[in-house]
Amino acid sequence: MKFLDDLSRQNLEYEMTELGEKPFRGRQLYKWMYSKGIFDLQEMTDLSKQLRQKLEQKYGFRKIEVIEKIQSKKDGSTKVLLELGDKNRIETVILRDGERLTGCVSTQVGCRMGCSFCSTAKIGLIRNLKIGEIVRQIIIMNRLLSEKNEKLSNIVFMGMGEPLDNLDNLNEAIKIILDENGLNFSHRKVTVSTCGMVNELKKMYEELDSPVNLAVSLNFTDNKIRQRYMPVSKKYPVEALISTLRNLPLQKRKRITIEYVLLKNINDSQMDAKYLAEVLRGLPVKINLIVYNDSDIGFNSAADENVLAFQKVLLDKGLSAFIRKSLGSDIEGACGQLYAKYNKKI
Ligand code: SF4
Repeated sequence: MKFLDDLSRQNLEYEMTELGEKPFRGRQLYKWMYSKGIFDLQEMTDLSKQLRQKLEQKYGFRKIEVIEKIQSKKDGSTKVLLELGDKNRIETVILRDGERLTGCVSTQVGCRMGCSFCSTAKIGLIRNLKIGEIVRQIIIMNRLLSEKNEKLSNIVFMGMGEPLDNLDNLNEAIKIILDENGLNFSHRKVTVSTCGMVNELKKMYEELDSPVNLAVSLNFTDNKIRQRYMPVSKKYPVEALISTLRNLPLQKRKRITIEYVLLKNINDSQMDAKYLAEVLRGLPVKINLIVYNDSDIGFNSAADENVLAFQKVLLDKGLSAFIRKSLGSDIEGACGQLYAKYNKKI
């Protein structure tokens, strides 16, 4: 059985011509899935009964079901655990920050990047998510929000997995998310967050027509230290990453978000802040200082006074630096933590 939601729009059209149908049948299927959120051939009523039967013999859709929802009592963010057709589980999070509702989307089951402060890294990479499995997370979040007449305003690829490690499916999913016949989000509302896969980053910008926003999880400016905590730096050193950022074809006024997770006694000193300002000099950036959610994998959040002192160094150097609220901290908001907890329970 082939899965229709594994296919890009072009491939759906091609698939229909292979069946002896007109290419517009592919566009109809695409609209049902991504404009209307319908993943059941019997409900696709503008396809003839005959065609629906023909399609059902050969094709289906990926299964993806909500297993558990946990809402934060502190800020109303919601973490959703999803089960895929092969019983693998992923998570997706609705982050609530005032009026802004951001869907935090996963791109892989697990992750092979090995960042030592991350729960998902402990799982390792199980598999890449398919195009439809990535997009469906957003459709599911919007369906849950529609009960309160709400919908997502922003999308960030910052859930389980390194998005650029699943680049082909990520790019096709982004095209569907931005397409007016798909989910119809503005490219200004979509952000890809990476730990710094330099070649893949260049490729993403080459392949996408509308450049989405970029966030880079930097966290360390000294390459030797970064290698210790973020092994991606062995292949792509800090210097190569920063030089790539300097040469990206960014649109006017677009800024790169630099994510910096403050870990107690590891990267939270004022000297670390000075090095960070030095490394980022001249780049169009804003810096998010993230207060780490204490975890059971050996790291602690930086003390409040250190976070403020760190921010002051950056502000004094003329940089934009924000302390990011730790949304969903009571529902284990760091990537992979819900999955890790769920796996411990069963
Ligand atoms: S922080 Fe991101 S890239 Fe690093 S291991 Fe976790 S999910 Fe992967």
